[in-house]
Amino acid sequence: MRIDDILAGRNGAGSDGPPFSFEFFPPKTPEGERNLQDALVRLAPLQPAFVSVTYGAGGSTRARTIEIVKGIRQSHNLEAMAHLTCAGASVSEIEAILDEMAAAGIENVLALRGDPPADQKRWTKAEGGLEYSHELVALIKERHDFAIGAACFPETHIEAAGPEADLEYLSHKVRAGADFLITQLFFDNSVYLDFVARARDAGIEVPIIPGILPITQVGQLKRMTELCGASIPPGLDRELHARAGEPEAVRDFGVAYATLQCAELLAAGAPGIHFYTLNRSPATRAILSALRLTETAANVA
Ligand SMILES: Cc1cc2nc3c(=O)[nH]c(=O)nc-3n(C[C@H](O)[C@H](O)[C@H](O)COP(=O)(O)OP(=O)(O)OC[C@H]3O[C@@H](n4cnc5c(N)ncnc54)[C@H](O)[C@@H]3O)c2cc1C
Repeated sequence: MRIDDILAGRNGAGSDGPPFSFEFFPPKTPEGERNLQDALVRLAPLQPAFVSVTYGAGGSTRARTIEIVKGIRQSHNLEAMAHLTCAGASVSEIEAILDEMAAAGIENVLALRGDPPADQKRWTKAEGGLEYSHELVALIKERHDFAIGAACFPETHIEAAGPEADLEYLSHKVRAGADFLITQLFFDNSVYLDFVARARDAGIEVPIIPGILPITQVGQLKRMTELCGASIPPGLDRELHARAGEPEAVRDFGVAYATLQCAELLAAGAPGIHFYTLNRSPATRAILSALRLTETAANVA
């Protein structure tokens, strides 16, 4: 099913509360593969509206991404979206990947510029390739009838000239054909709510799904936020420091924090929640269970 239909509640979708989605990445090791399969088995019964599978930095996991998306659709009967980037591929190579996705019955694509590979600091477009994600969105739109998602950055993309320029380029993506947006992770809901208000003022009307990272490890959180430029509010930083050296306490706190964050976002009108699972199930499972209990309680009252 197309994600734009799910978000609009078309085709009977959306009747079971807000759409929740889970993001996974293609693992590089046999242990990572086991973690992914384990996470899928444990998270599939929660019946997410869709899941998505990332595309390795520099375009490194092309075949694996499509293979995992196909596997999830077949084995778990879940709607699965493939991420696709402009990295390391010419236009004709990208076209071939899109055709392969269509032949596999994939209906949803998240169109991204992509991150450079780990050994490169700066993004450089491939020979005969694309420079920006809005070009990829336009290419996809022209070639296939996929539902197209794109990324957005409530705290502004790290390479952007500024918030206004970033928002202007975001509206290019939407005009080129992006049907919905998923945000970079953030920990302060006012950042998301202000961003959505600015996007609406700029004429961007498509659903903007908040991307939420359940905090499970402090070191990993610091690395990820440094890479993407997301800020850690001082209160959150204090609480994490207070639990330094107690991994279990950090995980418990991370679940509580994300649960409250999601509940507040949904109450404020967010169209769903996209969880960055990092191929682990316990935190996402706990948060989603709590959110669904809240909904049930609200319906009973
Ligand atoms: C939900 C989500 C999922 C992601 N999944 C992946 C993944 O699977 N694989 C991966 O490698 N990365 C992934 N990323 C990371 C993403 O690829 C990087 O953040 C990348 O640096 C930017 O991607 P983009 O699609 O927003 O790029 P773009 O929209 O192309 O923007 C990149 C930069 O260029 C600027 N810009 C845009 N258009 C123009 C223009 N016409 N002229 C001048 N400047 C312009 C923007 O302001 C921005 O600073 C994901 C990010 C998010 C939020």
